[in-house]
Amino acid sequence: MIANYHTHTRWCNHAKGEAEDYIKEAIRLGLKEIAMTDHVPHIDNTDPARMKWEDFNAYNQLLDEAIAKYKDQITIYKGFECEYYPEALDFYKKLINEYGYTVMVLGQHRCGPDRYYNAFTNMNKEALEIYTKTVCDALHSGMFSFVAHPDVFLFSYPKFDQHAEKALRTIYKTCEELNIPIEINGFGYHADRPYPNFEALKISKEYKLTYLINSDAHRPELIYTDKMRELEETVAFLGIKVTQTLPEERHIKAI
Ligand SMILES: [Zn+2]
Ligand SMILES: [Zn+2]
Repeated sequence: MIANYHTHTRWCNHAKGEAEDYIKEAIRLGLKEIAMTDHVPHIDNTDPARMKWEDFNAYNQLLDEAIAKYKDQITIYKGFECEYYPEALDFYKKLINEYGYTVMVLGQHRCGPDRYYNAFTNMNKEALEIYTKTVCDALHSGMFSFVAHPDVFLFSYPKFDQHAEKALRTIYKTCEELNIPIEINGFGYHADRPYPNFEALKISKEYKLTYLINSDAHRPELIYTDKMRELEETVAFLGIKVTQTLPEERHIKAI
């Protein structure tokens, strides 16, 4: 791994460390690029495990300062992990057009009316259809750099069945058509979660896809671990070739 494009900070209220701590660790590891992509804040602050809306300016300033301090040692991108919520899109556009956020990670954890369905608690067949449509709509918006953990719903969905396969095939096909990379998620692998799902990854080989392995680090020391190396080896063993850096056209510069 020479780059990591999915990195959190303590500002999302369920991770540890400042952007600077992750950047220093990435430099120590010899990485060439890092994107800081904490969970985007929402004006309603409904989810306590997210950055608070009123914290954005302070976070953004700290991040800018860290970038200025370390820019000669590593390439640092500003980004966010975002849910595709129609009411949030104006803010995402502002992040891209006015604040210089270019690595926009689609991480769809919730979907449906009032964000009722949650990948970690209550996925079922109906929810899966809504999830798939939401992810595909998001991909078509042109606003996202890549899709994080497309198989995250397996955390609460009973098992990898024909419906799960259909959902993922739809997402893979859309990513193939739009040339949008999919992520193989290191955090899920670290935590022995049901994602990344290797059966799904084998199926994904039927599509022409670009893959990224990211650590989705929630602690600075988890950016690139032995476990991440193990994941890289496992993926290579499946015959999947991973891109080392995010393709230039997936840095969202204006929308
Ligand atoms: Zn997180
Ligand atoms: Zn994440």
